[in-house]
Amino acid sequence: MSDAGLPNGADVVVIGAGVTGLSAAWWLARSGLAVVVLDKGIVGWEASGRNGGGASHYQSPLFAEEQRLWPQMDDLLGYPTEYVRERIIIQRDPALLDHYRAVGRMCTAMGYPVDDLDSRQAQELVPLTDETCLGGIHLRFGGHANPQRTVQAYAWALQDLGGRVIQHCQVSTIETKGGRASAVVTPRGTIACDALVVAAGPQTEALVAPLGIKFPLAAARAEMIVTEPAPLMKIGGVDGNGLYGRQTLRGNLAFGGGPHEWIGTTPEGPPGRPTSPLTRNLARRVAEMFPRAAKLNVIRSWAGVIENTPDGRPIIDRPADPGNVTVATMSGVGFGLSPASGHAIRDLVVDGACSFTDIAKLGVARFAELEPDWRERRGWAA
Ligand SMILES: Cc1cc2nc3c(=O)[nH]c(=O)nc-3n(C[C@H](O)[C@H](O)[C@H](O)COP(=O)(O)OP(=O)(O)OC[C@H]3O[C@@H](n4cnc5c(N)ncnc54)[C@H](O)[C@@H]3O)c2cc1C
Repeated sequence: MSDAGLPNGADVVVIGAGVTGLSAAWWLARSGLAVVVLDKGIVGWEASGRNGGGASHYQSPLFAEEQRLWPQMDDLLGYPTEYVRERIIIQRDPALLDHYRAVGRMCTAMGYPVDDLDSRQAQELVPLTDETCLGGIHLRFGGHANPQRTVQAYAWALQDLGGRVIQHCQVSTIETKGGRASAVVTPRGTIACDALVVAAGPQTEALVAPLGIKFPLAAARAEMIVTEPAPLMKIGGVDGNGLYGRQTLRGNLAFGGGPHEWIGTTPEGPPGRPTSPLTRNLARRVAEMFPRAAKLNVIRSWAGVIENTPDGRPIIDRPADPGNVTVATMSGVGFGLSPASGHAIRDLVVDGACSFTDIAKLGVARFAELEPDWRERRGWAA
């Protein structure tokens, strides 16, 4: 990444080199703006490089754009994301199978076809499962990509357009002048900006609070494990048994999924270490979902932090005051939605409104009446 000296200023400063900030920066650079992305660590070091890679968010207003863009992303960025189309959800529990069949009917009605699978069909498509799998659904859309490759792809594509990514550069304060954000302050110097995008994951709340923006977040630690390689399945994106994840192109099974631990956040970021009880719990559930891979060893595990809003939906907004600040957090679905969230942020910064879908539901105004003790009320306190 381009780490030589700090510039004095930029058209747009983006705080946060996760997928949300990087995608936004790339979209902004495509519009000809001079963009600088600052991160307290390195590109994708937080949730963006540690997630399951899933890209099938049928509940989101950004869904259609997510589905339109992913198949093109390798070409648009010029670097591989390892995107693989389609997804399967299998279940061993009859009630959950019924639930996902209903989800499948809803997606089909929206124009995104889903096939029901009986146990035999599920075993044909997911050969690592067995007859304990009652069946599932096959999403003829969606997919998954490699989070590490994707953050790098965004960063390199941004740099190819003249954008800058400055790592190990923590923003401590946002300066304002005349009702606008005028500069960001870092230990390495101050950078002036015409517009500011704050996409700092769990740290966003504390960064924008001094600007008078109410941005409620609760951080939760989640974990993932990776096994030795298994024989490659035709469709590597398989969810089930409370797990989300993917089979990598090498064959490793990379899976995560609850229980999540509520934690506090600090400016330096949350702890990243996995715990052995949760690692064992994940390994057991992976072995239950894929009985024919149950003997594989776990070779890696890690923790990451999910940035939850009170209603579980992302925030993407450009509040009226200060008028040149766009804020974004994705509440646990930010990887898959990143091509679309970046597009929406670009539209807010440049045009003041999203061009391709109605994102009014994602505004901060919905939290205006939120009780100060909302975390405790939900049992989400650290
Ligand atoms: C285990 C796990 C599994 C997941 N699985 C999926 C999945 O399958 N599909 C999906 O769509 N989503 C998934 N998610 C959620 C997804 O990873 C996040 O929603 C997404 O990565 C958020 O990206 P972001 O760029 O908004 O935030 P982040 O990735 O948190 O990036 C924010 C960046 O801001 C930087 N920063 C913070 N404060 C400052 C500061 N003061 N100055 C400078 N920089 C700062 C941080 O260092 C960080 O790099 C998962 C998350 C986890 C943890």
